[in-house]
Amino acid sequence: MRRLNVRPAQIDECIQKSMFAFSVRPQNPELQPGELLLLQLVKAEAARLGKLHSRIDFALVFDHIEPRDERLILPYIQWSLAEVPKPTLQYVPASQVAQKFGQELTLSAIYNHDRIAVLHAVPRRMVSVEEFVRNQYLADSLKSYYENRCQICGKDFYPDYGVAYSETHHVQYLARGGPDISGNIVVICPNHHRIIHATDARFDRQSLTYEYPNGLREPLILPDHFVKAPQLSTL
Ligand SMILES: [Zn+2]
Ligand SMILES: [Zn+2]
Repeated sequence: MRRLNVRPAQIDECIQKSMFAFSVRPQNPELQPGELLLLQLVKAEAARLGKLHSRIDFALVFDHIEPRDERLILPYIQWSLAEVPKPTLQYVPASQVAQKFGQELTLSAIYNHDRIAVLHAVPRRMVSVEEFVRNQYLADSLKSYYENRCQICGKDFYPDYGVAYSETHHVQYLARGGPDISGNIVVICPNHHRIIHATDARFDRQSLTYEYPNGLREPLILPDHFVKAPQLSTL
């Protein structure tokens, strides 16, 4: 990681004031190995701080990352590597991010997470014999994107129950080597989640359809993040 002319304390302060690592297409190219990841103020936040036209305070270049650099930046990159993020740095919780910043920016942040996770080969850790550590920010921001609707049936619990509820499922189970990136995650209702596990239903990536052993096929009616996703080499 190369730093642009700033001391660690400044980085610390700058990052704390920042929210997202955005790569909004098509204005910005997609993140590639060795390219810049800019942590920049959200426009509205910059305007509020009177910094709309000020220069970008810092940049982190991920051509290589030293262990000490990683320790420094890890807690701040909540859209990427932070497995145990710091709530004090969350200006907006991931569960509200789409409602606050809109779907397009949310998807951009989600895809940035994926690119960094793939580039960096985030190490897999087990919390128990069967459970892997998963990135709760990624799950919550996807749920936020779909407003907790099931991608298969569209079920939204809020109107009837007054509570927004959905679950996330890894298409290729983490236990079977599936990556913890958005391209491997669906937001679904508890019914679909249970029946997918109970039947070990297969997901057809071409048609974005769940196929059950009895022949039933259920295409995603809310496929957005699969349809718009950039291709990632691990899938
Ligand atoms: Zn459902
Ligand atoms: Zn599941």
